Amino acid sequence: MALVGLAGHSLFIPLFLWLGVWPMAAINVVSCATFGLCYWLNRRGRPHAALLVGTLEVVAHAGLAVAWVGWDSGFHYYIVGLTPLIFYSPAWRLPLKAGLAAVLCAIYVALYWLTLNATPWVNVDGWRNQVAGTVNVITLFIVFAALAAYYRLAAASAEDALQNLNRLLDHQAHTDPLTRIANRRDMEARIKLAVDAHQFSQTPFSVVLCDIDDFKAFNDRYGHDTGDLILVAVAGLLRACLREQDHVARWGGEEFLLFLPGTRQDNAWGVAERIREKIAATRLPIRAQAVAITLTFGVAEYAAECDPAACIKRADTALYQGKQRGKNQVVAADSAARPA
Ligand code: GH3
Ligand code: MG
Ligand code: MG
Repeated sequence: MALVGLAGHSLFIPLFLWLGVWPMAAINVVSCATFGLCYWLNRRGRPHAALLVGTLEVVAHAGLAVAWVGWDSGFHYYIVGLTPLIFYSPAWRLPLKAGLAAVLCAIYVALYWLTLNATPWVNVDGWRNQVAGTVNVITLFIVFAALAAYYRLAAASAEDALQNLNRLLDHQAHTDPLTRIANRRDMEARIKLAVDAHQFSQTPFSVVLCDIDDFKAFNDRYGHDTGDLILVAVAGLLRACLREQDHVARWGGEEFLLFLPGTRQDNAWGVAERIREKIAATRLPIRAQAVAITLTFGVAEYAAECDPAACIKRADTALYQGKQRGKNQVVAADSAARPA
C-alpha cells in the first residue's frame, strides 16, 4: 500500500500543476517521500510506524487539498479508504483500531462541515475540479479493489501455508526420522483399523516382527553412525521386498514390524522366509565395505484377540524362539498358543 500511495501521489503532481495549484504539487513531492519512508519502515520490520506515518500523511494531504481546491475535488475520499487498511493491519489491537477509525471519522466530518460551503484558497475552474473529483473517485475504487484482492491473496496463502504445515506435522507424526519408513504409532493405528475390519468381515491378517541379528556387534565394530546406515538400508530392503498392500514400520531400535493384510500365517511365513533369504544374500554397501547381515523373524496371524498387542506378543515370542534356536530364521507362532 505504501507503493500504491507513492504511485498515486506521483500522479497528483501533474494533476495539481494542471489545476494550477503548484504549492499542492510541491506538497505531493513531500508525500511521495513520506510513502517512500513508509515502505522503508515496513521493510525494516516496523509496520506500526509505517501505518501511522501513512495515516498522518493521508489525513494531512486530504485536509490541505480540500482547503486549497474545495470539497468537490474529492481529495477527502482517501480518509475513508484508510479505514479498511487500518482494520486489515495486524499491527494494532481491535480497540485501538476502532478508536483510530472513530478519530478518522470525526476528522472527515469536521472537514466536511468546515469546507463544504467555505471558499477554497484557490479558485479552480469548475470542470477541472470535476475532472479531479472523477480521478479521485476512480482511484479510490482501484484502491479498494487492490486492498480486497490483496486481502484475499494473503488469506489464501496463509491457508496454504497452514495446510502444508499440517501435512508436514502429520507426516512427521507417522514417520521414523532415521529410516523414513512408518513409525510405531502409524503401525499401531493401521493394525487397530485391521482389527476393526476383522470384527466385521473376519478378514485375516498377519504380523511379522523381525530383529537384526547381533546388531550390537555391528555397532561396536563399525561405529554407531554406520549402524544407523545399516538400519536405513535394512528398512529400504524390507520395503522393497514387500507387496503393494503390505506395510513396514520401525518398531523399536533394530526391530521392524511387517503388517500383511489378507494373509494367513502360512503365507506370511513364506513372505518372511523370502525376505530373510533375500537379505541374507545381500551385501550392504556401507562406507566402501560389503556388510552382510541377517534377521530373525517371528510370524503370527491375528486370531480375534481383543487386543492386537496380544498378536504382536505372540510374534515376539516366536522371534525370541528363533533367536534361541540360532538366529537367521523365520519362526511361526505356536498355533496351539492362539486363543480360540
Ligand atoms: P540379537 O541378535 O539377540 O538381537 O542381538 P543384538 O545385538 O541385535 O541385540 P541387542 O538387544 O543386544 O542390541 C541391540 C542394539 O541395537 C543395541 C543398540 O545400541 C542398537 N541400537 C538400537 N537402536 C539403534 C539406532 O537407532 N542406531 C544404532 N546405530 N544402533 C541402535
Ligand atoms: Mg537384534
Ligand atoms: Mg532387539
